[in-house]
Amino acid sequence: MTIKEWRQLIEENLSKAGVPNASLEAKWLIAGALEKENSFVTLHSSYLTSSQEDAKLQEWLRRRLQGEPLSRLKGIREFWSLPFHLNEHTLDPRPETELLIEGVLKWIDKRTLDPWRILDLGTGSGCLLIALLHELKNTTGLGVDLSEGALTMAYSNATLNKVAARATFQQSNWGEDLEGAFDIIVSNPPYIPLKDKETLEKSVLYFDPSLALFGGEDGLECYRILAREISRLLAIEGLSVLEIGYGQRKGVEALFHKAGFKTLFVLKDLAGIDRAIGMQKTIAP
Ligand code: GLN
Repeated sequence: MTIKEWRQLIEENLSKAGVPNASLEAKWLIAGALEKENSFVTLHSSYLTSSQEDAKLQEWLRRRLQGEPLSRLKGIREFWSLPFHLNEHTLDPRPETELLIEGVLKWIDKRTLDPWRILDLGTGSGCLLIALLHELKNTTGLGVDLSEGALTMAYSNATLNKVAARATFQQSNWGEDLEGAFDIIVSNPPYIPLKDKETLEKSVLYFDPSLALFGGEDGLECYRILAREISRLLAIEGLSVLEIGYGQRKGVEALFHKAGFKTLFVLKDLAGIDRAIGMQKTIAP
């Protein structure tokens, strides 16, 4: 078949299945399966696919129609304009998580701490830690995760993005066994309330690891642990930036303020939802 025919077939199937932006997705899916740039698909509509390529396109279309996101099919996702490989143990990095990087970068503009030590609690693919190490050349960082499969991926992503010399990865249940102090602590913990499980999209529920998604009945379970752990591990002048879920700002602030933190900033995502919160320890009078 030609690329043009594939585009028509895939677009038609995707839009029938209710996939938004079916036309763009069809192009990206073909480019991904053929391991070419997106522009190749636009420029070579008469390219004749081989039988091997046909089989791969069929397979990708079938999996996509079952709800598997394109980033998982490709096994790679862009975050902060850097490439990250994914496996079944890592959450697919979301664009809104880039807000945490923005928050850190804005804040440290005004700081002179040097050299910084960064901690990423629940590092997953390593996207937060690696993007920060990439931006801040005078830093070193530690990424911890409960999942060994995630740590393997994070380490290989650090190598891919040329920050492995400044990154360490360790298996740990949050901050257990860690000693402070860290100047910057980031985390995108699991925060979806278990009661919302039924309403999740297929692409999330079946393809993201549950360990990275669910934060107990009310979604705040991990923040209860984090308030304690970050309070112990954060340097006095240090900054902690956390991702939070819909409607969780008050609950998370209550936990952290009680543990001796003050809020420095809250950043909203494109949907206007409070998504990243920056906090610092209050210094005892
Ligand atoms: N942001 C993800 C989602 O809403 C959830 C990831 C998380 O719990 N940190 O799909």
